[in-house]
Amino acid sequence: MSTILLAGGAGYIGSHTAVELINAGYDVIVADNYANSSPESISRVEKITGKKIALYEADVSNAADMEKIFSKEHIDAVIHFAGLKAVGESVQKPLLYYRNNIDTTLTLLETMAKYNVNNIIFSSSATVYGEANKVPYLETMPRGECTNPYGWTKSMMEQILTDAAAADEALSVVLLRYFNPIGAHESGMIGEDPQGIPNNLMPYVTQVAVGKRECLTIFGNDYPTKDGTCTRDYIHVVDLAKGHVKAIGYILSQDKCCDIFNLGTGTPYSVTEIVETFERVNGVKVNHIYGDRRSGDLAECYANADKALEVLGWKTEKTLEDMCRDSWNWQKQNPNGYRG
Ligand code: NAD
Ligand code: UDP
Repeated sequence: MSTILLAGGAGYIGSHTAVELINAGYDVIVADNYANSSPESISRVEKITGKKIALYEADVSNAADMEKIFSKEHIDAVIHFAGLKAVGESVQKPLLYYRNNIDTTLTLLETMAKYNVNNIIFSSSATVYGEANKVPYLETMPRGECTNPYGWTKSMMEQILTDAAAADEALSVVLLRYFNPIGAHESGMIGEDPQGIPNNLMPYVTQVAVGKRECLTIFGNDYPTKDGTCTRDYIHVVDLAKGHVKAIGYILSQDKCCDIFNLGTGTPYSVTEIVETFERVNGVKVNHIYGDRRSGDLAECYANADKALEVLGWKTEKTLEDMCRDSWNWQKQNPNGYRG
């Protein structure tokens, strides 16, 4: 069976993808510098799957660190999750974001070329559609103007990977544009573990529900949407992880490819619907108030996910209720995340 290197694999999406790849029979290697994670997530993946994972503490932007791994392991494909992802922080520290995110991509591509590893799947984001495109987003739409440096790093990395694939006839690239991953593995053993005050909606909701934060502020209720709050395409992280397994099967079966896939459900839900569903499914209260809009937020964002179904044979299976239940199950069992 093939061996897959997960760069940034100790993080939220990487750890769930590790579980699904192992379940599908792949061997997994993880490289992470724990900038936003801890090795505990991988210990938990080992408990869930009953398989040992080769785990390297490594900076993916550092060529010497990558050499150590590529010279020792046989790698068939790389999934590149490694990156910093806090939108607000990227506005405060743009150079940190450009340096870390773009360097990880360049170093990976250079090391892969040196060791003749020719398949890379990249964690991109719906944010690359920018402000001008109309929902639902289609892969054929042009990338747009991003509203923050984080988004620009994704857009730039897509361009770098596309140019590298055009120049190297052996290199295959798959760009996966994620919508809004939430939820956790149904065991409650792995999940999203944000450091400090969460930026994203679902971890904030779970922390209010568990009593770690007082009150959720819903950013704006005067948008031109069904109930005035923003809508997003929330996707269960396990469905998302299974999308990576399909993408690995696809890239390994192609002589050469350079493809983009949206990974979303195609169904938008509003912030108010998330809060109400969370309260109903879990029987808990989420204190909330309505506040000002957050700058840079789009009213609506959701996928046309037809291409992933047609080409990869992938579609989401889990419901919003599953997402809310599994997020809460993880939070309840791990009130302080991986710190116990
Ligand atoms: P995460 O922060 O949990 O995982 C990213 C991992 O990369 C972390 O474990 C971090 O320690 C590691 N990392 C960062 N810089 C590194 C470096 N230089 N060397 C080695 N490891 C490094 O985030 P996630 O939610 O799992 O996201 C994974 C990828 O998907 C990221 O690239 C993110 O931008 C992208 N993405 C995430 C979302 C989302 O909402 N979670 C949406 C779209 C795209
Ligand atoms: N949101 C909110 N309060 C919060 C965090 C987020 O109302 O404390 C809203 C945000 O305005 C957006 C949605 O929840 O409409 C999803 O935000 P998130 O940051 O999770 O993802 P985004 O789509 O912005 O990347």
